Amino acid sequence: MTISELYQYYLRHPSVQTDTRKIKQGDIFFALKGPSFNGNHFAKQALEMGASYAVVDEKVGDGDPRVLLFDDVLTTLQLLAKHHREQFRIPFIGITGSNGKTTSKELIYAVLSSHYKTYTTQGNLNNHIGVPLTLLAVKQDAEMAVIEMGANHQKEIEGYCVYAQPTHGVITNAGKAHLEGFGGEEGVRKGKAELYNYLGEHNGIAFIFDDYEYLWEMAKHVQTFVPYSTTGRNGVVQGHIVSNEPFLTISVSIKQGEAFTIQTKLVGDYNLPNVLCAVAVGDFFLVPQEKIKQAVENYTPSNSRSQLVQKDSNSIILDAYNANPTSMKAAIENFAHLKAEKKVLMLGGMMELGDESIEEHKNIIALIKKYKWQDVVLVGGDFQKIDHGFIFFADSLQAREWYANQHFSNTHILIKGSRSMKMERILD
Ligand code: ATP
Ligand code: MG
Repeated sequence: MTISELYQYYLRHPSVQTDTRKIKQGDIFFALKGPSFNGNHFAKQALEMGASYAVVDEKVGDGDPRVLLFDDVLTTLQLLAKHHREQFRIPFIGITGSNGKTTSKELIYAVLSSHYKTYTTQGNLNNHIGVPLTLLAVKQDAEMAVIEMGANHQKEIEGYCVYAQPTHGVITNAGKAHLEGFGGEEGVRKGKAELYNYLGEHNGIAFIFDDYEYLWEMAKHVQTFVPYSTTGRNGVVQGHIVSNEPFLTISVSIKQGEAFTIQTKLVGDYNLPNVLCAVAVGDFFLVPQEKIKQAVENYTPSNSRSQLVQKDSNSIILDAYNANPTSMKAAIENFAHLKAEKKVLMLGGMMELGDESIEEHKNIIALIKKYKWQDVVLVGGDFQKIDHGFIFFADSLQAREWYANQHFSNTHILIKGSRSMKMERILD
């Protein structure tokens, strides 16, 4: 069977599923393989549960016509997504970067969907499976699509671009994240620049944060830019922080027009570029200024991303979704600059840093020591291997116990760490 033939099946059953536990009537089941499972073994079960077809790459089903045999299920999923993508003549906005992809994506989605039928990545489905699934979820009525692309090694973004074919793109930043897989910070820039390279080769347009000089360096093959900045230097959109206590309030002007205020529900000064990007995208696609403002103001972060949690009399910045040296530094500095008196840091280790891991954890310790805190609690990871003199726990469950015994009041607390540290458990 060819991809075009499979596409005819998909048009009749435009819903794909890779997880048998979530099968709905009519879904096409893709029998993916992982390190500890083989989807082919679940193909029959998927059909029994109501799947219309099962795409497999091993012989299963004893000649059942609903079992569709291909050489490789993952490649088939990606090629089907590419084929589907190619049916559309609408903007596809690709987003990558070390930090702030999901937040930027959600803000852009909020702004665009206030004016256009827009489809976007659900949650953090941003990898070699998530990107094709996102593409396949774009329906015929789409006017815009916003696609998050995550990566931890070279050539990954290039691969996504082959099937997502972005017409527009954003690289939020290129910092110290996934250093292990990318090969250092230079490697991160090279890897992320694959999105710019694709845009350069296909007459695409890049939304670019002008403050980061290195992005211009990375984008040297791109011809068309929409810059946003804090300086207004090259900025189509210019903005600065008016207040950061507790939420970010931003003053923005578009094309040197009259400034207006956006009162967000985001914490952290590092979210400024994410908001400016959403404004720049909205303005570029002619979303009225009032709708842009409303959309950003109504956006409330979830999933432990820069969330403000009020518990008893304490204000907790729950930023436990993930952490890497760049976002850890941004979060600590933001927190250090808040006016509050009593501040407690609860930080979990950072993962995937390879040879640079100990050094990067030491950098964080040095940064912490620059400021005054009521308490500092470090949890797991390579904090264990450093003589730092702070309270230390092997995991966040122990940290939770410590926290429960403190009976804090009127205290500001920053909770952050890599996903695997599950630092959000402290508040359970
Ligand atoms: P992932 O790689 O897990 O998909 P992501 O790039 O989608 O992450 P978000 O989930 O949006 O990033 O944000 C994760 C955390 O990164 C935030 O909670 C915040 O601490 C930090 N962060 C967000 N935006 C920025 C930014 N522009 N610069 C530095 N750090 C940021
Ligand atoms: Mg994300």
